[in-house]
Amino acid sequence: MSKVIRDWLNTYDDVDAGEKMANAIRAVLELHKPAGVDPNDDWCVIDEEPYPCPTVSAISDELDCRI
Ligand SMILES: [Zn+2]
Repeated sequence: MSKVIRDWLNTYDDVDAGEKMANAIRAVLELHKPAGVDPNDDWCVIDEEPYPCPTVSAISDELDCRI
């Protein structure tokens, strides 16, 4: 975890930080949504890799859920 994020997390209480982090993850996932051109061969337009891209995979791994 970067020092910037660690410092930021220490600024907020747990509830506030959790809500803000969830909003941040939503914003990242919105950017990394599949292009929607071909449902069987979809791509992330940011990473230019097959969906789920490494960014979405890293988030889903950390949250222990399938996105
Ligand atoms: Zn991506």
